Order: sequence, then structure tokens, then C-alpha cells
Amino acid sequence: MEFVDLKAQYRLIKQSVDAGIHAVLEHGQYILGPEVARLEAELARRTGSKHCIACASGTDALLIALMALEIGPGDEVITSPFTFIATVEMIALLGARPVFVDIDPKTYNLDPAKLAAAMTERTRAIMPVSLYGQCADFDAIAEAAGKLPVIEDAAQSSGARYKGRQSCNLSAIGCTSFFPSKPLGCYGDGGACFANDDHLAELMREIRNHGQASRYHHVRLGVNGRLDSMQAAVLLAKLEVFDRELELREEVAKRYSARLKGIVQTPWIAEGNTSVYAQYTIEVDERERVVEALKREGIPTAVHYPVAAHMQPAFAGLGYRAGDFPASERAAQRVLSLPMHPYLRAEDQEKIGMALERAVKSGASALLDSVC
Ligand SMILES: *Cc1c(COP(=O)(O)O)cnc(C)c1O
Repeated sequence: MEFVDLKAQYRLIKQSVDAGIHAVLEHGQYILGPEVARLEAELARRTGSKHCIACASGTDALLIALMALEIGPGDEVITSPFTFIATVEMIALLGARPVFVDIDPKTYNLDPAKLAAAMTERTRAIMPVSLYGQCADFDAIAEAAGKLPVIEDAAQSSGARYKGRQSCNLSAIGCTSFFPSKPLGCYGDGGACFANDDHLAELMREIRNHGQASRYHHVRLGVNGRLDSMQAAVLLAKLEVFDRELELREEVAKRYSARLKGIVQTPWIAEGNTSVYAQYTIEVDERERVVEALKREGIPTAVHYPVAAHMQPAFAGLGYRAGDFPASERAAQRVLSLPMHPYLRAEDQEKIGMALERAVKSGASALLDSVC
């Protein structure tokens, strides 16, 4: 059993992927070629964003977005401590200070009610994460943010909807990732920025390619953040089945939740949200023991994420301490992601359900024995 079965997907879309890659081999425009322009147009159409700027990774998308807003030393950017490290890392890389706001323990996303208390005169942007595939509460965040720009880290939420609107188009800038295991992934690294503002979009296009306004004419600092045409070709082929895959992901999640209800804490999706289930993440007591029990039965699991960002050695210099963000720290101790992809079979899910039930119940009876 695979955690994410990309080979099952490839078997289904092989013809289209192979033809797309072959076309790139023939025309020879390997970077920012015609497939990249087609991908940008298609993603802009799907999200309703005026602009899509494809780039080399989700991490680069975040970096390019922050650079376009001229974030730098002396600035503060508010984000969640319960995220993949890249979110926080890109803020710090530019010399700005990441300021954390704890999560809502039900959605694992930044708690808008706690935003106001974290804002100072140095706050320059707010970067919420749409974790596990469901969007943060962008209306409440916008209200607290006032005029401050909001950047969505939508690396895990391509295709998710929030109150009828599309992830990546919920704020000034949306940033997503096409890392292979993300809901919309390519066969290498890739990412994209989204914006409706013409000026911001132009800045991000220039920054993506060494601050170049026209060939060898550099008007600002940028990065090598371009997307390969082959990756765009793969993504165009995957978009042909993406809507169906989102339906399948939802079916897989529903089957899990029906099987696991009352046994473990299953995902909670806020009203007005759809989740694309980048991860199907439960909470358990004694996680290590449960992981071992599942492993013995050939069931792979993952922990997203075992250490909250403010407790990472790389950010020790920020001066945060254990206990500062209790909801994030508690989640980091308890979350467990189960195998999740559109082609996960019902019988495999039943096997996972039985193994989990056994593991959880044996833990509970061992606890009873020790008490009695
Ligand atoms: C994957 C991910 C990123 C980084 O994307 P890459 O394409 O791997 O650089 C950033 N933020 C979150 C929340 C992610 O899950």
C-alpha cells in the first residue's frame, strides 16, 4: 500500500502525459515555453484570478510574493506556527521577522480571533496557510488585516473552495505548489503565484526571472524561479482529470470518516469550505505506538508536522518558548496522516480502519489494566 499512489494515476493519464512531454522534446523551448503560458491561462481561468505566474516551486512562489511586497529587514509577517517550514523560512530568509498566531484546533488553520493581538506598527503582511486542503477563514482574516496585504499559502489547497470562491484567489496573492504529492502535482518541482492586481503580477513576473523587464534588462532583484515546460505539460495532462480526482478524494475521505468515527478524531471541515484532502489527518493518543502497529500491517503513515515552527532549532533566535502556541503544540503531538490519494481502494481503507481500531482499543485496554 502506498501513502500517495502516483503510479496508479500515471497509468490512467499516460497517453496524455507522454504526448505532452514528447511535444516539448520536439519544440525545444524547455523553460517558460508555450505549455507554461497555457498552464497559466488555464489556472487563471479555474481560480478566477486575473493573473497566474507559474514558478519553480511552492517555496519560490512564497519568496516571490514576499519580494513583490518588498518585505525585508525590520518588517514583521504574521503566519501560523503549524505549517511546513517553507512558509516561515521565506519570511526569515528576507530578513523579516515571522510573528506567529496560534491555530484553531478544529481546522488547524490560523485563528483570526487571535490576529489583532499580534499586529504591530511593523506588521507588513499576513500569510495564513490553508492546511491539509481546506482554506483558512479568509473573510475574518481580511477583516482583521484591514489594509495589510494577505498572502495565502495554498500549497496544499489547489482546487479547494471557500464560500464558493477558489483557493489561490482569496487574497492579494495566492501561492501554490506542484510538488509531486500535492493534490495538483507535477513530476518534479513547480509552483505558482496568483493575483488580480496588474502591478503586483508584473512585479512577480519580473522577480521570477532575475528581475528582468526585457531580455538582459534587470530593473530589480529577482531569482531563478522559472517553471520547466515539461512540468507544465504534465500539469496540463493532470488538469484533464483534476475535477474528477477532487470528487474521488472527497469519496475516499467520506469512507474514512464513516469508518473511523468514534474511534479516532476525524477531520472537521468548516461550513462554507470544501477540502481537497492534501492530507487525511486524524488525531490519536500515543501516536508512536499507533504508527508502529500500522507499520506492522504494512500501512504507511506520516506526521504533518511533528514540531511546530516556533520550536524548530532554526528559529530558536526568535525567542519563542514551549507553551507559547498551545493549540499548535498539541496538534504537533497528536496528528497522524493516513494514506490518501484519489485511487485508494475501499478494501485498503477497510484494512486501515481495522488496524487502527485494533491499535486504539489495545491502547485503551492496556491503560485500563495499568489503572486497575
Ligand atoms: C509543500 C508546501 C510548501 C512548499 O512547496 P514546495 O513546492 O515543496 O517548495 C509550502 N507550504 C506548505 C504549507 C506546503 O505544504
